[in-house]
Amino acid sequence: MQEILDSPLKIVIVEDDSGLNELIKRRLIREKYQCVQFYRAADALAWLSSNSADLMLLDMVLPDSSGEDLIYKMESNSISIPFIIATGQGSESLAVKMLKRGARDYLVKNSEFLDVLPSTVEKIWREVQIEKLLARAREQIVLQNATLSAVNDYSPDGILSVDSYDKILSYNAALLRIWKLTESRMDSFNGSDFINHASSALPPEAEFSKTVASLASDSKGLIFKELAVGSNYYEVYISPVRTDHGDISGRIWFFRDITAHKKALDVLEEARIEAENNARMRSRFFAVVSHDIKTPLNSIGGFLSLLKDSKLDETQKEYVDIAKAASSHLLMLVNDILDFTRLEHGNIEFNYADLEVFELVHDCISPFIPASQESGTNLTFEILPSVQPVISGDSLRLRQILMNLVGNAMKFTRKGSVKLTCKPDPDSKSMLLFEVADTGIGIKKEVAKFLFTPFSQADATISAKYGGSGLGLAISRQLAERMGGYIDFDSEEGKGSTFRLHIPVSHH
Ligand code: ADP
Repeated sequence: MQEILDSPLKIVIVEDDSGLNELIKRRLIREKYQCVQFYRAADALAWLSSNSADLMLLDMVLPDSSGEDLIYKMESNSISIPFIIATGQGSESLAVKMLKRGARDYLVKNSEFLDVLPSTVEKIWREVQIEKLLARAREQIVLQNATLSAVNDYSPDGILSVDSYDKILSYNAALLRIWKLTESRMDSFNGSDFINHASSALPPEAEFSKTVASLASDSKGLIFKELAVGSNYYEVYISPVRTDHGDISGRIWFFRDITAHKKALDVLEEARIEAENNARMRSRFFAVVSHDIKTPLNSIGGFLSLLKDSKLDETQKEYVDIAKAASSHLLMLVNDILDFTRLEHGNIEFNYADLEVFELVHDCISPFIPASQESGTNLTFEILPSVQPVISGDSLRLRQILMNLVGNAMKFTRKGSVKLTCKPDPDSKSMLLFEVADTGIGIKKEVAKFLFTPFSQADATISAKYGGSGLGLAISRQLAERMGGYIDFDSEEGKGSTFRLHIPVSHH
């Protein structure tokens, strides 16, 4: 603003009396104005058509035309410049005519002319500047309004602006849509009418008007997280509008449609609940079924043992043996399933105590000695001297894992060797490593990553040929992890496999 008011002012003087022209110029220069002098209308017009000035002082009678004609010509050449009329004879009617044509003021060239000239110029100049500033402000307001209405029009949010006298200043199409309002109805509303309308469209428990009434005038932010309007859901925000001085001049409301978002969340939540229910049902099913199967199975096993000791012929004995093998296999399966479900639901407790490594290793090997002698598999074990003889661990669970690993190795190694080695874990000082290496059938690369998945076996032919539930490794891995360790393995198809149990040597 200031920069416009302070810029040096350039004044065009059009006056045929060269003496007066000069006097005017001197008087104005004294006031720090710049001047351009002309004596004829045509010269002034020519100059103005390619130069600009801020103000013109125009004599009404010129040798080549009247001042009035010059103004006409300027207008038709689209030259616009604020001007002041100066004339020798004081004619009221000419003054009115020229003021109508846009003259800013009218000066009579009498004895006071040169004295009033500077203050008149100053006054006109100020007026012109203020008009310019106003025009600029108006332009800015128009631009801001255009921006605001574009935001309003294109916003997917319903927007409503109300002033502090409850008058509605603006609203957008989205707002009308949300609240099923017509433009004419909305135009008849003030802020309270809108609130009443909204309340009546909502169930009483939404407490819309109550919540709104309880808001302080400077409340800001989310006031409803999930307002159900018809079949849609909205977040409702409110924000005070402040003047430059910080006074609150009104409020803006925003209604944001969150229906799609909420639906997506609901679907997710339903899926989560369903998954949870399924898991709970499954584990109950397993628990009940497993127990119901175990009890009769135990008695079948027991009675088969009794039967075997009774008087039977050889064929009958053979049948009883087959039945007994089948029932103990079934029992093992049920036990695996029980273990697995318990592990899945964290229902297994561990008992840590000091245990002797030799005893552990020995106990895991000895049950397989008869089978190894029968098949000719070379079953051995080794405990490296650097292994401390006593560690802290859950001997039952460690045995379960190791017997499963040795059992698998034996199962998949018909000829060759199986070796259990116990040594310090090269990767960690606080871990012990139990390695079960076999020279059996090995594991195909493509199935290796599924080995620890429950119920997975390398392929269908394997379960047919070697039996098993596909749960052993899944259980072993989970047990190892619960005890702070892990299992990994290497294998080459046709050459053999090495499974490794890494386990911490102490538990605190
Ligand atoms: P299963 O009770 O069937 O043995 P596991 O979980 O213990 O179940 O093993 C899953 C599958 O991993 C086995 O069926 C077999 O295909 C493969 N597997 C495990 N150990 C070995 C091994 N030492 N050599 C070859 N394959 C093995």
